[in-house]
Amino acid sequence: MPRKLDLRSGRTVWSAYRAPVVPTSPLTRDAKTDVLIVGMGISGAMMAETLTADGHSVICIDRRGPLKGSTSATTALVQFEIDQPLTKLSRMIGRASAEQAWRRSRLAVSNLAARIDELSINCGPSRTQSLYLAGTVLGPLQLRDEAEARRQAGIGATYLTPRPLAETFGIERDGAILSHGNIALDPRKLTAGLLLKALERKARFHAPVEATMIEDSADEVIVATRDGPTITARHLVLATGYELTDIVPATAHQIISTWAIATRPQSPKIWPGAAFIWEASDPYLYMRATADGRVICGGEDEDFVDETRRDSLIADKSERIAEKLGRLFPQLDTRPDFAWTGSFGTTTTGLPYIGAIPRHPRIHSVMGYGGNGITFSRIASEIVSASVNGMNDTDAGLFAFNR
Ligand SMILES: Cc1cc2nc3c(=O)[nH]c(=O)nc-3n(C[C@H](O)[C@H](O)[C@H](O)COP(=O)(O)OP(=O)(O)OC[C@H]3O[C@@H](n4cnc5c(N)ncnc54)[C@H](O)[C@@H]3O)c2cc1C
Repeated sequence: MPRKLDLRSGRTVWSAYRAPVVPTSPLTRDAKTDVLIVGMGISGAMMAETLTADGHSVICIDRRGPLKGSTSATTALVQFEIDQPLTKLSRMIGRASAEQAWRRSRLAVSNLAARIDELSINCGPSRTQSLYLAGTVLGPLQLRDEAEARRQAGIGATYLTPRPLAETFGIERDGAILSHGNIALDPRKLTAGLLLKALERKARFHAPVEATMIEDSADEVIVATRDGPTITARHLVLATGYELTDIVPATAHQIISTWAIATRPQSPKIWPGAAFIWEASDPYLYMRATADGRVICGGEDEDFVDETRRDSLIADKSERIAEKLGRLFPQLDTRPDFAWTGSFGTTTTGLPYIGAIPRHPRIHSVMGYGGNGITFSRIASEIVSASVNGMNDTDAGLFAFNR
């Protein structure tokens, strides 16, 4: 049943910062729980924190261990701005649904910020502005329309013409949308922090444990593991990132490859507000800063999954990313201190698939795709916890498998 990908390689910037250790133990005998979560990355962690807060007993397993999948490779721009612009998404799924998806995304980022604060998770969160620069996908006129469409949907957006863009941010481009309220953070510290909260509430963590077979009935789900023991649960949550299990429909989903670099700390030279910056271009470039002034910059996506080919391109791709970064900000020292690559999931609309798998009401899947993966993990924890509690989230239909 399980598929395995070599999810990432190279040296990611997060290895420069120590995340708390999340203790796990082997699974030596059969176990029973309210909810079994497969996957201990950011999606599984958000889910475990939410479900234990609701009073459910939770077991988490991971074939590698906590924080060992894509979550350690993410550049962690926690953004409400969905990869697919609102104007384009409206043409794909209708204006009302597109506006609702964007608003939910906005809400999820605010909810996540509030939760981090409430739980005092030490992951260096900072509320950050973002600049969406005119490019090949949206030129200045379309970008102006995009800002207007967002405002009509109740989502703050300011269109900047070239002059204020250059004067305020020192960027020479044909226009940009300025937004507020995204979060820069350390994704490993956040994931570890959420898992440790779940542990305080008696969640059980077993790793390395691989789920190999799933059987469900009207009342329960039984999961077999590679080393023998089985786990019986009232609900199963598959938070397996880009390694989908066979039971999850793979429709409209594609795995691609992406690359990123991080520079040395250079605080005084960072652009105003250390805003997130991303381009309305294909392929696009995006960047953010860390709390200690490193610049993280990524992009150069390619439509293939072959991990050997992906890894062999790290040197070329990081050179290209550094060169593009230098063109935008000539004052920066763009030499990569870290360079890495990872597999990355995309869907045609940019929206994730979240919720119960068709004909399997007790098996929930959480697939936070693409550049908004972390935001979508938060939406998933809200939708799935409502469902486990016997309720229906108002936006569940927007992200459902059978939408
Ligand atoms: C280079 C890069 C940049 C990115 N930038 C951003 C960004 O700026 N903003 C953003 O929001 N998102 C970004 N993303 C996406 C984001 O990183 C992902 O959405 C997120 O990390 C996925 O987390 P996850 O917990 O779902 O998956 P993972 O962290 O991969 O965790 C899944 C876990 O499931 C385990 N597993 C899988 N199958 C089994 C099985 N059968 N049995 C047991 N365990 C299993 C794996 O071992 C793994 O540890 C980026 C991704 C990459 C690669």
